[in-house]
Amino acid sequence: MKDLRKFYINGEWVDPVSAEEMDVINPANERKIATITLGSPEDVNRAVAAANAAFVTYSQLDKGERLALLEKFLAIYNERYEEMAQAITAEMGAPISMSREAQADCGAGHLQGFIDAARTQEDRVMLYNGDILVREPIGVCGLITPWNWPMNQVALKVVPALASGCTCVLKPSEFTPLSAALYAEMLDEAGFPAGVFNLVNGDGPTAGATLSRHADIQMISFTGSTRAGIAISKDAADSVKRVTLELGGKSPNLVFADCGDDLESRVRASVAECFFNTGQSCDAPTRMLVERSCYDQVLEIAEQAGREQAVGDPTQEGDHIGPLVSHIQFERVQGHIERAIDGGVRVLCGGAGKPEGWETGYFVKPTIFADVRNDQPIAREEVFGPVLAIIPFDSEDEAIQIANDTPYGLAAYIQTGDVDRAERVAAKLRAGAVHVNGGGMEYGTPFGGYKQSGNGREGGMLGLDDYQEVKTLHFG
Ligand code: NAD
Repeated sequence: MKDLRKFYINGEWVDPVSAEEMDVINPANERKIATITLGSPEDVNRAVAAANAAFVTYSQLDKGERLALLEKFLAIYNERYEEMAQAITAEMGAPISMSREAQADCGAGHLQGFIDAARTQEDRVMLYNGDILVREPIGVCGLITPWNWPMNQVALKVVPALASGCTCVLKPSEFTPLSAALYAEMLDEAGFPAGVFNLVNGDGPTAGATLSRHADIQMISFTGSTRAGIAISKDAADSVKRVTLELGGKSPNLVFADCGDDLESRVRASVAECFFNTGQSCDAPTRMLVERSCYDQVLEIAEQAGREQAVGDPTQEGDHIGPLVSHIQFERVQGHIERAIDGGVRVLCGGAGKPEGWETGYFVKPTIFADVRNDQPIAREEVFGPVLAIIPFDSEDEAIQIANDTPYGLAAYIQTGDVDRAERVAAKLRAGAVHVNGGGMEYGTPFGGYKQSGNGREGGMLGLDDYQEVKTLHFG
């Protein structure tokens, strides 16, 4: 069992001030795998003080030196890659094949993406009017991350901070501290100066809120629930911090009858994408909007795909899905499914309760609801589990109207055989990313949402901007 009670502050693993502890549970077998300390405001203050002191020299470091540190870090990350995949599987239940191919891969992919972006970015630009614009690090950054894609989120925040010359304090999700501790070990091994990166574990209302309110922090980057995002924005307002938010989603997937022969493969891929990571992705295509003329056929394909979706042991290789991250999430997801059934929504497959043979662990049945109306809670609320809602539509305009009828705007998906339609519809969807016929996103492309899905963009050049101030110089 891992003892993660210490915090990484000022280049050392230090004893915490707080005596409050929390057990970390493996969601697949409900066994305790680690103990962390829940940091107090004093712990957070120590970390911020270290980051503040380190900023004086780190911010002045030449970009080449910062990039050399990041290159070394990338080499270490790749050497210890398997440890990272195993840590993520143990702490949040991602099946090991998926941990290797996607979860751990994000750590390396974003690191390379930011190295490339930082190399390309010009730190000093002569404007068209003769004035000079320089980019500078914004200061000490508070980074608060969730449990669903632990390395993805940590890398999307820590790397642009360090690449830009900022120093930082990371508070990872209290449910996924193993991957974050490993990340801290690797940064230490890479030789970043003391205080540049600091790690404090803790819960949201205490450790998280202390960061959001801290007068010595200039920028907060948060990924997680809309509820916490709003609380953080309010807490950060008194000290006029920059706040970037990556929040929830209820992403529409518009399936048009013109898919023709590709309909079956497109629908199967769409179901798999909704269930990927056990449905715990903010940009999952959870609302499938289907053209009426192919609706019955799509229901048949989706039901088949849903029934075939295997659930299994995360330590085993394969393309099955694992459990949800925690008992709390299990209860939340069950609540969503039960309320939909009680409300009379038609169940195509799955339903409430655990899948047969998986009574231990936070496993849920992959579930598909059909004939859903977009005003029903199962079409409006983010479930964060393997739950798909299928909604029929009659025309392209109606599909766009339903797609945009949500408080969220993170991603949207289109399945069509008509490229002109894809462009036309994509232009009308209020979402930060539109994926056509399974098109994926490369590392280095900005990711973020419209409306209540957040603000700011993570990844690549735009992901660096959020960690930088702009100064203009005017010579007489
Ligand atoms: P959460 O938002 O409560 O937690 C995410 C992170 O924020 C954690 O590190 C947590 O400690 C911290 N936090 C929580 N409240 C805070 C506060 N007031 N101030 C500062 N930090 C705070 O997420 P959760 O409760 O674990 O999950 C709830 C729901 O959030 C999920 O069901 C899902 O809908 C959504 N969610 C979305 C994402 C995403 O990627 N967009 C990720 C995780 C959860």
